[in-house]
Amino acid sequence: MDKPYVVGITGGIGTGKTECTRFLMEHGGVVIDADTLSRELTSPAGEALPAIEERFGRGVFNEDGTLNRRALGEVVFSDEERRRELEGIIHPMVQHSVMMSIRQAAQDGISLVFLSVPLLFETGMDALCDETWCMSVSPEEQLRRVMERDGLTRAEAQARIASQMPQDEKERRATHLIHTERPIEVTHAELLVLLRDLRHRVS
Ligand code: ATP
Repeated sequence: MDKPYVVGITGGIGTGKTECTRFLMEHGGVVIDADTLSRELTSPAGEALPAIEERFGRGVFNEDGTLNRRALGEVVFSDEERRRELEGIIHPMVQHSVMMSIRQAAQDGISLVFLSVPLLFETGMDALCDETWCMSVSPEEQLRRVMERDGLTRAEAQARIASQMPQDEKERRATHLIHTERPIEVTHAELLVLLRDLRHRVS
């Protein structure tokens, strides 16, 4: 049971990870997505809910018992200590699920997996990767995308971006940069070349 070759995909908020992983999946790539795992952990009956309720109280839940993500976001993105508290609950659970998913891929005989983790370097999960790809955009474009997509004010978007490792530090650490500020077809073409090269290398 060989471990699959693991390509980490990362980048700040709104830099294009989701678009990249969607494209890779469309072209047969196997993707383990930390955001999806994290959402499962915080969905109804999710494993992380009891600990979140204990630390953050009923105020971050809706009447029907589901997590009020907006209310929780407001708490943790305005207070670094509270954000770290939440990360302390979620990150170890996500890491455990990621390792289980990699093990499962190995059992299924899969030789290449993409591991999409927004906080790949911050959490040290890059240690699970054989190489890392970082999505790259200019700070202005990143801010514009986050404000537009998430309906945030400039200050709110800036606070979310500032809560992560600086983008240039992520880019410095990555094996490869994917520029996502060009027409989307150009990014897709680049991804296809990288995917072919990877498949050639790991087969
Ligand atoms: P988050 O971490 O917040 O989920 P993300 O890194 O997954 O963000 P996406 O949701 O993939 O980012 O992209 C953010 C926005 O940028 C989307 O509106 C998407 O369509 C656009 N975008 C992503 N990649 C490109 C690209 N190569 N060219 C043009 N627009 C892009």
